Amino acid sequence: MTAHPGTIEKICIVGGGTAGWMTAAALSHKLRGLPVAITLIESDEIGTVGVGEATLPAIRSFNSALQIDEAAFMRATEATFKLGIEFRNWGRIGDRYIHPFGDYGQKIDGLPFYHYWHRLGQGERLDEYCYGIMLAEQGKFRHPSTNEGDIESTFGYAYQFDATRYAAFLRQFSEAEGVRRVQGKVVETSLDSVTGHVSHLKMDDGRDIEADLFVDCSGFRGILIEQALHTGYDNWSQWLPCNRAIAVPCESRGPLTPFTRATALEAGWQWRIPLQHRTGNGHVYCSDFITDDEAATRLLNNLDAPALAAPRQLYFTTGRRRQFWNKNVVAIGLAAGFLEPLESTSIHLIQEGITELLQIFPDKQFLASDIEEYNRRMSLNIERVRDFLLLHYVATQRDDSEMWRYFRNMTLPDSLQEKIDAWLTRGHLVRYEFGVFLPPSWVAVLLGQNLIPRRHDLRADKAMRDKIAEGADALRGRIRSSVERASGQAEYIKQVRAASDTGPLMAKG
Ligand SMILES: Cc1cc2nc3c(=O)[nH]c(=O)nc-3n(C[C@H](O)[C@H](O)[C@H](O)COP(=O)(O)OP(=O)(O)OC[C@H]3O[C@@H](n4cnc5c(N)ncnc54)[C@H](O)[C@@H]3O)c2cc1C
Repeated sequence: MTAHPGTIEKICIVGGGTAGWMTAAALSHKLRGLPVAITLIESDEIGTVGVGEATLPAIRSFNSALQIDEAAFMRATEATFKLGIEFRNWGRIGDRYIHPFGDYGQKIDGLPFYHYWHRLGQGERLDEYCYGIMLAEQGKFRHPSTNEGDIESTFGYAYQFDATRYAAFLRQFSEAEGVRRVQGKVVETSLDSVTGHVSHLKMDDGRDIEADLFVDCSGFRGILIEQALHTGYDNWSQWLPCNRAIAVPCESRGPLTPFTRATALEAGWQWRIPLQHRTGNGHVYCSDFITDDEAATRLLNNLDAPALAAPRQLYFTTGRRRQFWNKNVVAIGLAAGFLEPLESTSIHLIQEGITELLQIFPDKQFLASDIEEYNRRMSLNIERVRDFLLLHYVATQRDDSEMWRYFRNMTLPDSLQEKIDAWLTRGHLVRYEFGVFLPPSWVAVLLGQNLIPRRHDLRADKAMRDKIAEGADALRGRIRSSVERASGQAEYIKQVRAASDTGPLMAKG
């Protein structure tokens, strides 16, 4: 096939971490058959960040758009199913709740169920009306039903996987789709003297690599978007002050829980991500409130089982690149920005970046209006995530350490303050344009951290109280008996793997 004049013929992706290989896989698959050559550069010497194990349900659409077989993917990446995140000690020390991928109850006359629960006096836990939470609390898993109306269709799921194996899996996929991999270090970037666009890259072995469009997936370094184009970074540390993490894997011990755990600590929080072959752990913290040594000791004392490797220290500044797309460079992944991993949102933002790039795919003219639109959409996406993460730190009664007192005195972004105010007054959740977290996620965190609205939506008063109570009891009963019949997650994964042990890694369309 010949190219139209002006269409992009060469794409160069710099970076072979999760962002680089996800981008390579999606672009090569979606542009298959077109005269576009894709090169990915990665440096074995620099390596990847190597963390990033918990995901959001949208990862399933990414995999299925690439026609990746779920069972083969789970086998290759040692993945487990994730029904949500269990938050411990966030509202008050001793509290726990699950933020599920799914809804609470079913809408009545278009009104979310939690308003009726509020009207009934909040006697039972709202969690008992959420299929995903009940399944998670029992350590069980099943696939959601595809029949709308079934109670088993009211939850979603994501995966917890080994990030390094996922990148390797996608590398195999991408190379089969024709992506050329170049191993080596980019040591110099040349800019066009007229347009200021990146024209070519010089490698440490002297090779030159040219392209029309560059995707910067070089991680925190941002070697094109920042080091070459000086795009600038909006630092959000005043809202999200955690700036370091220590990560360590440990042996897998005990039941294989179908959820990630985030336990709030004095100067940050600790993650626990169970995979089939090991458990990932990490302590995210703010260096103003704890030393690195104390943070490491805290983490190592909290492991379920012996560590499998030495702890790794990571440094970051929360925030975002001022432009995600600048001239002919689109930054995706850590090169575009980073918010801490409390709600497993980074891989999701990678996915959004790729989807938007495919939707607003440029030609060599690089229209300013396309670039602006891409930046507008991605800005909204990341700001919504920032607000949701910050909610966890401010919707709390904790004031037992310097870090928690810091959040008490904070001026919130208007977008978040308005959302909390509307919730507290009448249980209303303002719908955002863009943003991955839908109202049930906000309900989970707000109620889970003890922010109960003063009143419910008045429309919930129209229904007969006895009728609502009867319906609610029946719903709880249906959920309980269906969950009883489900298998434990370890057993379920064994069945899934057995079905795929000889299958192909990917189904090609
Ligand atoms: C503590 C922590 C926990 C996290 N947990 C989660 C989570 O649970 N869920 C989630 O979704 N996300 C999580 N993330 C984010 C996630 O790890 C990243 O979004 C993801 O790994 C993508 O990283 P990346 O590919 O952008 O960068 P990297 O993995 O750093 O890859 C950068 C690539 O660029 C290459 N490179 C850099 N410079 C050069 C050069 N000069 N020449 C050639 N190649 C170069 C490197 O070799 C590497 O291949 C976490 C991040 C951190 C820091």
